Amino acid sequence: MDWSKGISKQNILHDLKETRKKDFTFPSSRILGSMCTTPHPLAQQAAALYMETNMGDPELFPGTKELEQKVFHMTAELLHAPPTYGALFLSGGTESNLTALYLARSLSHKKEIIIPQSAHFSLQKAASLLQLKLRTVPTKNYQMDIHKIPQLINDHTAGIMAVAGTTGLGIIDPIPEIADLCQDEKLFFHVDAAFGGFIIPFLQKQGYPLPCFDFSLPGVSSISLDPHKMGCSTIPSGLFFIREKKWFDTISVDTPYISAKKQASLSGTRPGASVAATYAVMRHLGQDGYMKIAKKCMELTSYTKKALHQSGFSLVTEPPLTILGIQVSKPFQVSQELAKKGWSISYNAQLHCLRLVIMPHIKKRLIDQFVTDLRDVIKC
Ligand code: PLP
Repeated sequence: MDWSKGISKQNILHDLKETRKKDFTFPSSRILGSMCTTPHPLAQQAAALYMETNMGDPELFPGTKELEQKVFHMTAELLHAPPTYGALFLSGGTESNLTALYLARSLSHKKEIIIPQSAHFSLQKAASLLQLKLRTVPTKNYQMDIHKIPQLINDHTAGIMAVAGTTGLGIIDPIPEIADLCQDEKLFFHVDAAFGGFIIPFLQKQGYPLPCFDFSLPGVSSISLDPHKMGCSTIPSGLFFIREKKWFDTISVDTPYISAKKQASLSGTRPGASVAATYAVMRHLGQDGYMKIAKKCMELTSYTKKALHQSGFSLVTEPPLTILGIQVSKPFQVSQELAKKGWSISYNAQLHCLRLVIMPHIKKRLIDQFVTDLRDVIKC
């Protein structure tokens, strides 16, 4: 591409609008396999207002830093964090998992991490970067099998991680039991609630019988949760919480040429726009707003389940949250055929299923159309 000479703003905007037409969009309700969603309009507005701010140099932006502290306080309350807690605003679940494993390694000086078979693939990246050995625990009924953990604990174990809302099926591992084990064994315990963190607490508050996954369990050391998933904020937004702020000392570096003295985050420059967006949407919706969103998504999940059953489809398992695994033979080919009909849906080769994630942007009437198209594709 020859870009030796610039072109007009008008032409660029036209180009951008045309190119964007090639993308799937959340409001069309045709993205059925993503854990992200349309950011709340207020989050988008807040991000635009804070576009130039950089949390990597926080002393330049004390106002944005204040918003970050407010996000931390609101989230700490949600997670029942003790007063000693520490937090970082990161780019999402991958960076949070990487930070958690870095911390577990730095605190213990050990090199093995125990994870469930259902862990997100970001753990593989983290282990590879940190030269950690992953010891994988098989699942039982799609949950990390607690009985298989003790045999993997040894003198090299740096910590254990489990998931509150797995990527594949939205499963919640037996976190209270694993937390007890970690407390007995004095092991670091990271809970990956990238997806579950902004839905489980709001369902629990409405009486949904979901297990505890937060700092009220003394054995939980760290938790990640993503505002850019069920939090309805802008991308990139990830929150990482630890029980003891002082633990960050083990992974912090001196930052001689910027205003802050130390930095614990792996990324340097970080968007204050995401912080402002997350503050705006959390403060605007409030816990009752998130409760309504969570309930609506759960009700649409039940509706989808019924519509699928009526059309003769079976699910891999009962969905505890808003992710449905639809059993089909040749799920990859089926997802390709559905793409031809304008649906973006992911598939899980391991579990031989299509993966449907009911997010706030999905409308009921589109579910009916999707089920009809799925039936047509299967018949062909
Ligand atoms: N952890 C879990 C459970 C996830 O489902 C995901 C993404 O889907 C991640 C971590 C990674 O998050 P991100 O893509 O925001 O880095």
